[in-house]
Amino acid sequence: MRSFLRTTLVCLATVIGVCVWLAAGASAASPEGMRLYVFSSGWLNIDKSGLQTGATGKISVPVAFFLIKHPKGNVLFETGNNDKIITDPTYWGPLATALTPGRSPDVAIDVQLDKVGVKPSDIKYVLLGHMHLDHAGNVGKFPNATIVYQRDEIVNAFWSKPGFGCCYITGDFAMLRNSIGENQVSKQKVLELDGDLDLFGDGSIYIHRQVSHTPGSQMAVVRMPKTGPVVLTSDVCYLMENLEKDILPSVALAYNPAGIIDGYSWIKHLMSAEGADVIFAHDAETSSRLCGQNSRRPSVARVVAGQCRSSSSSIGW
Ligand SMILES: [Zn+2]
Repeated sequence: MRSFLRTTLVCLATVIGVCVWLAAGASAASPEGMRLYVFSSGWLNIDKSGLQTGATGKISVPVAFFLIKHPKGNVLFETGNNDKIITDPTYWGPLATALTPGRSPDVAIDVQLDKVGVKPSDIKYVLLGHMHLDHAGNVGKFPNATIVYQRDEIVNAFWSKPGFGCCYITGDFAMLRNSIGENQVSKQKVLELDGDLDLFGDGSIYIHRQVSHTPGSQMAVVRMPKTGPVVLTSDVCYLMENLEKDILPSVALAYNPAGIIDGYSWIKHLMSAEGADVIFAHDAETSSRLCGQNSRRPSVARVVAGQCRSSSSSIGW
């Protein structure tokens, strides 16, 4: 009964959240003092055909994760590659060779967060765009945070649907599961979603469910008080070119191809209707733009060392 009540309340909260977000979009209720930081958990060198069906050759891409400082608490969107691979790449098995991740000690998530004066214990919410190895890798480093994910994603992460198991590493998130004999499945606080959520009820961080790349993918819109909305795509869209030309990724990375195209439409609507900026998880060109080259809106986010390939220091606003 209690779980039924809780589920009902969560569903109700989700519905209300949508309404609040729609209203907030018009009134720009995001609080002053919000900051958005972009980090990279090293770079991957991968076959471009994985990101764009039919492409050839290799491509070098960042592994972005994001910190949002908000008056109601610090929020992390994604957690990058598991820091274990810095010293032990065999943790990734054959994927270490296939993806050749950057492994300098500087990419560790606590080292990166420390550059902006934040400790893992300072994080209130961790939002997971999905749970592949380059997105949920370090979720275990935030035992005091509330982890926010789609129910369908964690089910698929632990026991994937046929053909869609390549990129989950159970060890990345096994610690979320409670001890033997405990009735509550989760060891720490979680928000298990089946839909959208306006995280703080002010429209400033809005989570959008998008069944697409994986069964429980979700994006986030961060509404900066001065520069407007920024869409964080996770892997719903890999590259700006994919968005502009409606290019799908490879079959193995497209759980729901129609959902991916829907996701592109959702992003494009925010861009055209509200002038939203977009930051992909793995687009080097977007990263370069944020690093100061061809910068259209340099104040949209602060890029922290590691995201800019050739830089070893913080980049301006
Ligand atoms: Zn992915």
